[in-house]
Amino acid sequence: MARKYRDDFASQDVESEPVICSLCERVIPNDQIEGHHLVPKSKGGKIKVPLHRICHSHIHAAFTDAQLAKKFSTISAILNDPAMQKFVSWVRTKPPGFDDEAEERGRRR
Ligand SMILES: [Zn+2]
Ligand SMILES: [Zn+2]
Repeated sequence: MARKYRDDFASQDVESEPVICSLCERVIPNDQIEGHHLVPKSKGGKIKVPLHRICHSHIHAAFTDAQLAKKFSTISAILNDPAMQKFVSWVRTKPPGFDDEAEERGRRR
């Protein structure tokens, strides 16, 4: 079976088709593509989905590896979480290349 993507989502030769974020379903700029293991690698997970860097770090900020492996090993389970729904509807109002680093600094307690 031919594989469409290599393991490395950030490979340079993906100009043919835009990569879509599994969480917020927006196009991901090349420099923000990160692969997320639906079941964490440490728990034996193999399936990877492409996510924005910001979406990816939000998932890991919200859930522990144990939670991801047990309850949130599918995108639909993650999207069922009220806090995630809030994040996704918020991030969808941002440009695709949006990165919240500046905001993170301001939000630090
Ligand atoms: Zn991840
Ligand atoms: Zn995203």
